[in-house]
Amino acid sequence: MERWEQFQGVYVHTPFCLQKCLYCDFPSYAGFPEEVRQRYVDALCREIEVRSLQRELPVAENATMYFGGGTPTVLTVEQIGKIVSTLKHCGWWNDPAEATVEANPGTVNAGKLKALREIGFDRTSLGVQSLQNKELLALGRVHTAEQALYAIEEAKQAGFRRINADLMSGIPCQTVESFRDTMDKILQMNLSHISAYSLILEEGTPLERMVRGGKVQLPDEEVSYNMYAMTTDVLAKAGLQRYEISNYAVPGEESLHNIVYWHYEPYAAFGVGACSFTGTERRTNTADVLRYIQGSAKLSLSALKTDSGQWQTEHLDRKTQISEAMIMGLRMTDGVNLQKIQQRFGIDILESYGKEIQTLLDRKMAECEGRTLRLTSYGMRYGNRAFEAFI
Ligand code: SF4
Repeated sequence: MERWEQFQGVYVHTPFCLQKCLYCDFPSYAGFPEEVRQRYVDALCREIEVRSLQRELPVAENATMYFGGGTPTVLTVEQIGKIVSTLKHCGWWNDPAEATVEANPGTVNAGKLKALREIGFDRTSLGVQSLQNKELLALGRVHTAEQALYAIEEAKQAGFRRINADLMSGIPCQTVESFRDTMDKILQMNLSHISAYSLILEEGTPLERMVRGGKVQLPDEEVSYNMYAMTTDVLAKAGLQRYEISNYAVPGEESLHNIVYWHYEPYAAFGVGACSFTGTERRTNTADVLRYIQGSAKLSLSALKTDSGQWQTEHLDRKTQISEAMIMGLRMTDGVNLQKIQQRFGIDILESYGKEIQTLLDRKMAECEGRTLRLTSYGMRYGNRAFEAFI
């Protein structure tokens, strides 16, 4: 069976956070009491159970597992343990090649991290963002720089060998020097993976309103570019190779779960706002926590066949699939293997998108070597413009 005919990854969403960050537009909410969190866990387990009775695709052996959010570590160890037992019992947790749990500094301690290792997670991803308290405050993060470093140390002591830290550039009041200082400090922790994102000002978030109202200023374009340019250089010198637009790893330590997304392979997803993908269909659960909890109680095998308002299903035509596969694949520095695209979709990309690809080559945004098409570092910088070729 081909990889795209099986779920290669499983995602579980926890929509709770201690505090809503000022820039965040993810399906995550602060302020729900413990009683709702428990009902959510029960509802989530019900969704996992019912959907195992009629899987759209089989689960691949070693399919990756990812607990994301929100902040999964807002849940208790017992609650996380219950979700994992349900996944195992229902055949979704299938000796995963990698099991990641996202954690926020400020929501973990040595005991909790150790318990998560014992439950079966072998990788953790920490939302560090910055190691400057002023910048963390400007983002509305709940933790301090000291807590972030402490959480990394504790994760190591708990036995996590594979640790990712998320870093952010373009934060209000951030300078090239302060960003460099954050990178230097994080590199001293000898992590095997760093995700380095630029802050995206999402419409409707408090930060966007503050910037629009002139109360807060973002670093200007030149400063942002210097941070961007520095990231790849500094991380490469430290042995962390860029393998995706925003992701860097010691070779062999890349995130297997995220590679499933970039290779456009199917994954199952559970929980509020979670989005499953079968290769031909995308199914997105409601982002409303209470509606999800109520709907899950009524979930049955027959209800799974109908679109009950509990989720939305989007059918992807072949052209959309090809376009999405190209865009996702070009995010990786390895680029897209056009032979594989031909096997999967029966299309010769160089013929069908010849003119568009030639324009990318002429602008030095992409390069083609044999049957591999990849973006140049210039193309990666302006990824969205390069992706337009396939829309
Ligand atoms: S911790 Fe993450 S998910 Fe939660 S509010 Fe902050 S950015 Fe959003």
